[in-house]
Amino acid sequence: MSGERVNLLGLPRAQLETFVAERLGAKPFRARQLMKWIYRRGAADFAAMTDLAQEFRHQLQEVAQVSVPQIVTEQQSKDGTRKWMLRMDQVQGIETVYIPEPDRGTLCISSQVGCAMDCTFCATAQQGFNRNLTAAEIVGQVWLAHRELAASQRKITNIVFMGMGEPLANYRNVLPAMRIFLDDFGYDLSRRRVTLSTSGLVPQIYKLAEECNVALAVSLHAPNDALRNELVPINRKHPIAELLSACWHYIDQQNGRSITFEYVMLDGVNDKPEHARQLAKLLHGHPAKVNLIPFNVFPGTQYRRSAPATILKFRDILNDHGVIATTRKTRGDDIDAACGQLAGKVKDRTLVRLGDRLGSAARIAAEIQ
Ligand code: SAH
Repeated sequence: MSGERVNLLGLPRAQLETFVAERLGAKPFRARQLMKWIYRRGAADFAAMTDLAQEFRHQLQEVAQVSVPQIVTEQQSKDGTRKWMLRMDQVQGIETVYIPEPDRGTLCISSQVGCAMDCTFCATAQQGFNRNLTAAEIVGQVWLAHRELAASQRKITNIVFMGMGEPLANYRNVLPAMRIFLDDFGYDLSRRRVTLSTSGLVPQIYKLAEECNVALAVSLHAPNDALRNELVPINRKHPIAELLSACWHYIDQQNGRSITFEYVMLDGVNDKPEHARQLAKLLHGHPAKVNLIPFNVFPGTQYRRSAPATILKFRDILNDHGVIATTRKTRGDDIDAACGQLAGKVKDRTLVRLGDRLGSAARIAAEIQ
């Protein structure tokens, strides 16, 4: 009867406390104990939770479960980056990436199956949108990575919503997941180590400013509306000035440090010195940092990566104009795990139409059956 049991994975502390009180007549500290077992110790089986009374464990088994997504494949890059494809249901799959560095380990998670934002330079966009992930499916990515990494003594020190999907378009489920990442009895990460990256859903940035304190990254990619309208279509609804006002509000409201603006370097499109100067003008004097991302290619793209010298020059212009800029190191591109390369398995009408054109629909359909 697993379908009727409540999945405890993804329930923030307040809701779990309510659940144990109302369904099991238990005290709030039981919820904290459960969270420690589920998140800190990676337990999914109530029977293993030995410091809970046996009676309580039996009760839990009747009404609850800890249900995690299933790993379909794992790939490891020569640079140590690991990518997991996770099965979300019968037909859908998403990807999660772990990026090890000497002083930290970043887990890049997905928030949706596919994406509806339609950014022209992103592989996920080509897959179309299928559905939002549940809070359990979002937290489940961290739960699984935590378990898989245990053997190699690697830890998750940072979580970024930079996988598939637009997290602010799935606000309802992303918020509880973030609460668990930050909770002392969850993954206990500091608010600077959880980063939400958005293409610019302005109303939700205001909402987030009120409700949850995490680092914000914004996919800007262009220094003027004409170009951004083309690259990041949501800009037609929320143009740059509106977006930046929301960003500065976010920092004020949260006493935050700064916003990271992501800027993908597309050869001959947005990488000219005048673009760098325009960008500097937009950001100078504000709590902003720029992260230049060398474009990562994927099948069917019309774009090319800017030359290294062009990227350096762009960075120098920003720095000379008083805007801190860094270049993101490309990781995991040999296993298609780099920014913008995550494709997962998305089955919907958009994919089939695109797949037909690309000649790959049959293959993908066969793989996901
Ligand atoms: N929807 C969120 C998260 C997306 S992915 C957002 O838009 O921010 C994280 C970053 O990778 C974004 O800045 C995205 O614009 C960038 N990206 C997408 N495709 C890329 C590509 N092919 N090469 C490099 N970066 C890319």
